[in-house]
Amino acid sequence: MKTKQVAIISGKGGTGKTTLAGSLSVLFDNLIIADCDVDSSNMHLILKPKINETIQYKAGHKAEIVENKCIGCGKCQEVCRYDAISKKKDSKYTVDPFACEGCKACVLVCPTKAVDFVLNHPGDYYTSDTKYGPFVHAELKPGEEMSGGLVAQVRKRALKMAVDERKATVIIDGAPGIGCPATSSLTGTDYAVLVTEPTVSGIHDMERMMEVIKHFKIPFSVVINRFDMNMDKSKETEKYCQQNNIKILGKIAFDEKVNVANSNERPVVELQDSKAADAIQSIFRKLENELIV
Ligand code: SF4
Ligand code: SF4
Repeated sequence: MKTKQVAIISGKGGTGKTTLAGSLSVLFDNLIIADCDVDSSNMHLILKPKINETIQYKAGHKAEIVENKCIGCGKCQEVCRYDAISKKKDSKYTVDPFACEGCKACVLVCPTKAVDFVLNHPGDYYTSDTKYGPFVHAELKPGEEMSGGLVAQVRKRALKMAVDERKATVIIDGAPGIGCPATSSLTGTDYAVLVTEPTVSGIHDMERMMEVIKHFKIPFSVVINRFDMNMDKSKETEKYCQQNNIKILGKIAFDEKVNVANSNERPVVELQDSKAADAIQSIFRKLENELIV
């Protein structure tokens, strides 16, 4: 049995991607759930994970000045092109870790070898249990920018667990947009569900995202979220998809129950009498069929 990796993605944040990914995590059996939206992760809020393992994510290097070796000559500050080094009140020097780009110039010029070049630790990732299935997620430290690499680690761990535990599916809540974290969420997946909404920028964002998906030759379909908020734009999106031979997997109506579910930190699909939950159930069934192919 080959594990199918399914990425739920969007051209920008706030389109309902995590609402869909969270509910699909409830509906699929025998799965691993991966939250690759590491810059603003919130799947953990609805899945309520119990962490089993914390793994340090190490990437890149940063300079650190050892105070008692620094003679205050200022040579490191002169060579730093990123203005990452400043003089302190005691005439010693210090490195701003968020400005340091790890070019190593200061290490090379320091006459007293006072600059350590340390492996950076921009965040952690976790393996957890949830009542819906095992969950791999991550936390990037504030101000850190290594999210593409961290996404790759989350993906790698989720796939390994899926293969080891003979899971049929990995549901990936992808990073939004077309940057490095987004492409890291997508590469090597078996299927992508592109969530869009009927706004002025919605079609444009969707088009940009499609270019990326097509580049990776990944089969995909579209979900229009809150389709009834702007029927003209919604029809425009449908027309665009028809003209470009793109399957629409489903349309989710605006539903106050989604806000209720979010504020109660629950997947909307668990709520009764919800239009959104019904639409997601239908999307799930169609998605299952797509994955059989
Ligand atoms: S080059 Fe070395 S000794 Fe000179 S200020 Fe920088 S850290 Fe201190
Ligand atoms: S490693 Fe490069 S960027 Fe970082 S503090 Fe030293 S000179 Fe500046």
